[in-house]
Amino acid sequence: MSRSQPHHSPAPSRPHPPPSDAHRSLCANTSAIRSTVKHLRDQTVSLAKPRSRSTRMDPYDVEGGAINVRFLHADSVRAHFIIQNFNLETANALRRVMLAEIPTMAIDVVEVMDNTSVLADEFVCHRLGLIPLIAKGVEDLLYSRDCDCEGYCEQCAVVLTLNAKCTGRDIMKVFARDLVVSAGRPNEDVGNPVIVDPERQGSSIVKLRKGQAIHMRCIAKKGIAKEHAKWAPSAAIGFEYDPANKLHHLDYWYEDDPKEEWPVDHDRINLDGGAPTEDEAFNYDAVPSRFFFDVETVGGLDPDQIVAEGIKTLQRKLAGVIQQLQGGGDGADGADFGGAQSPTLNGGYGAAPDQGYTTPYGGNASVWGGANAAAGGTTPYGATPYGGGPSW
Ligand SMILES: [Zn+2]
Repeated sequence: MSRSQPHHSPAPSRPHPPPSDAHRSLCANTSAIRSTVKHLRDQTVSLAKPRSRSTRMDPYDVEGGAINVRFLHADSVRAHFIIQNFNLETANALRRVMLAEIPTMAIDVVEVMDNTSVLADEFVCHRLGLIPLIAKGVEDLLYSRDCDCEGYCEQCAVVLTLNAKCTGRDIMKVFARDLVVSAGRPNEDVGNPVIVDPERQGSSIVKLRKGQAIHMRCIAKKGIAKEHAKWAPSAAIGFEYDPANKLHHLDYWYEDDPKEEWPVDHDRINLDGGAPTEDEAFNYDAVPSRFFFDVETVGGLDPDQIVAEGIKTLQRKLAGVIQQLQGGGDGADGADFGGAQSPTLNGGYGAAPDQGYTTPYGGNASVWGGANAAAGGTTPYGATPYGGGPSW
């Protein structure tokens, strides 16, 4: 990762916009996301095949215009792309959702039958939890808190068994490949350990000497990284804008001269409109509009799937907010924010209220200029404090 998210200098204080503005910008963000989804879908169709498009320059409108996505590099491990004519808030929201709220698989419960290795049970269990598992097709599984079963079942869990005993004189290494996946999964991918090394061994779990044995039953469940980092789909997500620091959002630490001491990424600066000239006046109205993403997978999902799932999750969350503003649904407690809330809050995610999803995708009568729009926030705010219906 080249640089982490830049440190923001304190912004000049601005008055809070009235709710109608906030609502309008929320709607604008949602429609922005909708068109980004379309662009990403168009461009991420066959990312699994290694390829590089770094030399091709496609024309784009640098002075505003439609959102567009441009891939600099994509293979089975990472996707490096720019989203242009986008806004900072939504771009950062996408980054955070991809880090923490995409469902994946990880070992969550371990039943220890036998462990005479030198590692304590807890130690081995912790290692097992951190083994990346394939999460393709994880949508076929339920969150175990949403399942009717007690404990776990085939609808909400994948069982992996580890059973090894060293009988020879040499030290025996136990790897992720030794985890045996039980039958009865909803599909053939979900729950398999990620194995990418040339020897096809996977992550190392424990070493055994003669006479030592390990026998454990591991229950892998669906979850999100907000709950525990073992469910993170991505090792790291690079996020950068304004590589030349024209906006002065970044305050470089330096000893003598920041220009001498900080590396310059000429490629990114060129993609972002070129380096500033010496006598260029500071533009107080400038806002970031190009965002460099670098998504790297841990192996459970392809990088394009992480991006697509991130957008889907963000859409669901915005749909939940809009639904609440419109006063629909079951109230805040029952709302499905697509993983936004604490997993233990009010018994988890609950059943998804269908009408919440119709707004951003379908754009039916509720928010986007249908019958309700003219009435303004009839429900949560009433027609009282902010006057009549908004002009949009
Ligand atoms: Zn179950």
